[in-house]
Amino acid sequence: MSHSVWSRGLRRVALAGLATLCVSACENGAASAHATEDLGDFVVRPAVLEDDQYTELAAQLSEERWLEDIADVLNQSLKLPVDIGMRFAQCGENNAYYVPDDREIQVCIEMFEGERDTFAAYYDSEEEIEDAVNGSFLFTVFHEVGHALIDVLEIPFTGREEDAADSLAAWWLIDGDDGEESAISGALSFYTDPSEAAEVEESDFEDEHSLSQQRYYTLTCLVYGSDTEQYASLLEDEWLTEARAEQCPAEFQRLTSTWYTLLNDHLKE
Ligand SMILES: [Zn+2]
Repeated sequence: MSHSVWSRGLRRVALAGLATLCVSACENGAASAHATEDLGDFVVRPAVLEDDQYTELAAQLSEERWLEDIADVLNQSLKLPVDIGMRFAQCGENNAYYVPDDREIQVCIEMFEGERDTFAAYYDSEEEIEDAVNGSFLFTVFHEVGHALIDVLEIPFTGREEDAADSLAAWWLIDGDDGEESAISGALSFYTDPSEAAEVEESDFEDEHSLSQQRYYTLTCLVYGSDTEQYASLLEDEWLTEARAEQCPAEFQRLTSTWYTLLNDHLKE
């Protein structure tokens, strides 16, 4: 495969808006007396590779600051009690993890091939495929950031932690300018999840994640609910049904108020 074609256009646009997060947060209330001291940062560590198959790709991703730019944006917005590592790793599958013992997010370098295969079946142009891979990458990383923040900030949640991590990613991307496109790409990657595409199995119900199709509808609903005029096509093109769409503005409002409340003490002013 050629790695030189990855476009950074959409990723740049999506990240540009995230720095405004605190500006909106600060309107929500004065800093709490219990505000966290800022003792840590998101820190990008060298890729861990098993062989030289991905050496070139890892060097390119580092040079293009795929993780570094995300770490910068997070560090501009959040106060952390400890460092949280981020790195690419060769793990033999298209996946990503947060490893609590190491306080580290590991993004499998194989995801670039996996997501590309997924989106190549849905989009015609190279540009659309690249943008979708970028968007899905962003959603994946922010999902793991959700796990990391729940761990180090001891953020309370009810229901499944996986759903809470999805909701952090959705909130951060949608609330930043243009990150909605990344959330849509994340949603589409769930919709096309090859492990569930053929048939849902018993093990899918046992899994700690919601079903991929449910994650798809939740994400799509939140994007639509963030601006029903701008994203009217999600309803028109039947990404969502009328019945669910009616609830989406309220779902999005609850998402934003919840995360601003939970992170209020940890946001920089
Ligand atoms: Zn997860």
